[in-house]
Amino acid sequence: MPWKGESDPYRIWLSEIILQQTRVEQGTAYYKKFISFFPTIVDLANASEKDIFKNWEGLGYYTRCRNLIATARIIAFEYGGLFPSAYPEILALPGIGQYTAAAISSFAFGLPYAVIDGNVERIIARYFGISTPVGSAAGKKEYIRIAADLLDIKNPAVYNQAIMDFGATICKPQNPLCVHCIQARDCYAFQKGMINKFPLKKPSLKRKKRWLYYFIVNAGKDKIWIRERTEKDIWQNLYEFILWETGKIIPQDKVHKTSFFRDNFGKRGFCIRHISEAFSQTLTHQSITGLFVHLNKPLDKVPGYQSVSKESLMEYPFPKIISDYIKNSPFL
Ligand code: SF4
Repeated sequence: MPWKGESDPYRIWLSEIILQQTRVEQGTAYYKKFISFFPTIVDLANASEKDIFKNWEGLGYYTRCRNLIATARIIAFEYGGLFPSAYPEILALPGIGQYTAAAISSFAFGLPYAVIDGNVERIIARYFGISTPVGSAAGKKEYIRIAADLLDIKNPAVYNQAIMDFGATICKPQNPLCVHCIQARDCYAFQKGMINKFPLKKPSLKRKKRWLYYFIVNAGKDKIWIRERTEKDIWQNLYEFILWETGKIIPQDKVHKTSFFRDNFGKRGFCIRHISEAFSQTLTHQSITGLFVHLNKPLDKVPGYQSVSKESLMEYPFPKIISDYIKNSPFL
């Protein structure tokens, strides 16, 4: 990991935000890209939102990106470009929770704050035999309290790095290396033969299903209609084609019979040229299916949408299902 041993708060913060809900292999490439495009927090703060979202494209959980921009601008314009060095001030920045604040405080400033994430919770639950589910309100408090008690306050950076490495390499989620573990003799889960019982998890939520039909309509020669999503919803600040959202999937041969198609296109003599296969994306609380519908002729005006050249399409940040479609479509 390129950020290991790092003491620059900007780089620690950037790596932690990127790694939230992202695998290390994928996150590393994005981290390197961000450092190369935006070497300092001031560079990031001065960049356009479109450029930042474009660099974030494919990483998902776009609230992280919005918070990244907000925090960079606060630090650049209110703190003179210097990361605050007090834990409460770090914690107050947008998108920075206790884990990230503790990581920045300990690694960059040597402050005594314990990191607590899924790895640390797993180690604590197994070692002490804690049966409070992780992710529950009670669990959150309990694991934070125990993690704070365990912290080596004289060497918080070394301790935090050690417990994170221990969770990643020894006390792993699957097949922990208990036979090589120096804690095995005192580990509750190992001694009781209950490794796979810990940590207990909160029952998972049912995902809401959404079907998004994207109508791909030309705006004259080599131009196409898109818009920025501005609503408080998923994918805010990303771009999309003309959208129709339904509560259920529509058979391909029925799309032209729907009232949306009839009212917006059918009455004006449009026909469907092609409907794509389904593109899926799973978010934490939602399961999204997107279909792309190409129409046969251009439209002069689409309120709320802007016309852009097909050539420049990939300069805009899109949700993953749309950028996947654009990359693979023979029509774009
Ligand atoms: S003995 Fe196994 S479960 Fe217990 S702390 Fe070590 S690796 Fe984790």
